[in-house]
Amino acid sequence: MFLKLKSCFANIFEIFLNLIYNKKCLICSCSKTDDLLCKNCLKDVHFLSCFPHRIYRDISIYSALLYEGSVKKLIQMLKFFHRKSSSKVLASLLYSYFKKLNLNEDYIIIYLPSYFLKTAQKGYEHMFLIAREFSKYTGFKIEKNLIKKIKYTIPQYKAKNRIQNIKNSFKINQKYIDKYKNKNIILLDDITTSGATINEILDCLINEGFKKIICLTISKVQK
Ligand SMILES: [Zn+2]
Repeated sequence: MFLKLKSCFANIFEIFLNLIYNKKCLICSCSKTDDLLCKNCLKDVHFLSCFPHRIYRDISIYSALLYEGSVKKLIQMLKFFHRKSSSKVLASLLYSYFKKLNLNEDYIIIYLPSYFLKTAQKGYEHMFLIAREFSKYTGFKIEKNLIKKIKYTIPQYKAKNRIQNIKNSFKINQKYIDKYKNKNIILLDDITTSGATINEILDCLINEGFKKIICLTISKVQK
């Protein structure tokens, strides 16, 4: 009788835990996982090589994954459908890639900011959520006020002239230049296509005297 009661309580406790922690795959909703993604959905996650995928003004730009399959779904869920827990999976994938780079430096994390009205409308800044999770893995400090987006721009994938669309849309906060310009900076972004947005931010940083920067994008669109 006591054992039956004990098992009954254990079952209720497990149901309660499942309700709280919702042990279901974020993408396909199957319950065959103890993690946020099931094995099946992890199968189409493809890591890229651990070499810079592009160099711009002596800055190395790395991309961790291909923008397709599960990675594409996770990014879209986070950006457009308020599925904030996607940021945990994306940051964990990014960290797996970052570890393989063996950079062994201490960095300040910055990220591609959103325009403030967009953040207000959505209620969160998706790149901040990823940066925050990435910071938990690495122990690196985030500086969210170094770069501001000062102009609303149409999404880059819709823009006919990507360079013109993004021109003059970021500003470096003068208050933080001296504090950070000699530190190692890691710039995070979610998707890179032409690289026009990253180039624009790098121009702003380099023009203010920043030198020790690396860029890490979660994904890269295959051309
Ligand atoms: Zn799944």
